[in-house]
Amino acid sequence: MFVISNAAQLIYVGPGKFSRRGSEMGRLDVIQDGAIVVSDGVIHWVGRTSDLPPIPPDTEIIDARGKVVLPGFIDSHTHLVFAGSREDEFEQRLKGRTYEEIAAGGGGINATVQQVRRASKEELKAATRRRLQRLLSFGVTTVEIKSGYGLTLADELKCLQVIAELNQEGPWELVPTFLGAHAVPPEFQGNREGYLRLVVDEMLPEVGRGRLAEFCDVFCERGAFTPEESERILKRAYELGMKAKVHADEFSSSGGAELAARWRAVSADHLLCITDAGIAALARSDTVPTLLPGTAFFLGLNYAPARRLIEAGLPVALASDCNPGTCPSENLTLIGTLACTQMKMLPAEVVTALTLNAAAALDRSQRLGSIEVGKQADLIVCDVPDYRQLFYHFGVSHVWRVIKRGRVVYTA
Ligand SMILES: [Zn+2]
Repeated sequence: MFVISNAAQLIYVGPGKFSRRGSEMGRLDVIQDGAIVVSDGVIHWVGRTSDLPPIPPDTEIIDARGKVVLPGFIDSHTHLVFAGSREDEFEQRLKGRTYEEIAAGGGGINATVQQVRRASKEELKAATRRRLQRLLSFGVTTVEIKSGYGLTLADELKCLQVIAELNQEGPWELVPTFLGAHAVPPEFQGNREGYLRLVVDEMLPEVGRGRLAEFCDVFCERGAFTPEESERILKRAYELGMKAKVHADEFSSSGGAELAARWRAVSADHLLCITDAGIAALARSDTVPTLLPGTAFFLGLNYAPARRLIEAGLPVALASDCNPGTCPSENLTLIGTLACTQMKMLPAEVVTALTLNAAAALDRSQRLGSIEVGKQADLIVCDVPDYRQLFYHFGVSHVWRVIKRGRVVYTA
């Protein structure tokens, strides 16, 4: 058992909902001079420090005077398992080439695919562990990770095994997603059907057999996979017991949001080019729109219409999209600042989007994402007296302690 006391602000986000939608996103629940009692890795009591119940004399106490306590951040969209880096493409883009032109010339995703295929499982694991440690230093306690840089049966399994082993290792909690439909690899150029068959008939059944992925994601996009191809893949994934995610409407209005809603995907991600019809389809569904403003920032694109999504009553989540091509950063609070300055989200909405709604984007909001009695004790203590400073004083980490499953796992 331990106690956190005297918190200048205890941002508990909750209470007890699947997600917070629309105008509810901005209504953060805050306790001044807050305290939490944690026991057996679970939140046992939440309230004001002056109302703390009697606690045994030898209980460990974390004094959070002058600090803010929040639920651990959740990064619901990353591509952390990769090898190498792509600073050469970064420079080419600065000279005016677009992401799609670079991809058509053999760069982009396929450049990383070549490096991942050459890397051993141990090399990938070491590189991914370093990225997870950086995420932890920014207060991220749960991380979704996609495969999708292997694109052969053996290399996709290798990446998913890296995720499974790092999840065992902890202290983070990882959520594995199979993204075989990330790109058509070079050996299948001119034979899309051949690659689709490989994904549907060989990769997905093998991933299902090994229980290596909770979600199946598809890159539904001009130059990647069409809505019809995406549906074929999601259908097979459902049959094998996986839940769906969709990379939707990133570079063009590809019908990805509508597809996600139709297939009851847990989340539809990116949405830079979402149409009014796409917003309406999401508003009629339980699919969580997940925005990744770090990618728009890094590529110099227009941002997703966060305000319109919130006004449509949707439960917006935010994530990093950490990947070597379009957003090489583990700084999730910087993503929050971009959401504020570029998409006009308010700091309270950003906190909801990085906690409870991000948990909903991973189908985990029953257990994670808010500070409520009975929920898992995933908490961060930040060395600022007001939560808005997390995004206002930008580019650095304000995290002072990270607690995962009731244990302090990171100290600044
Ligand atoms: Zn992505």
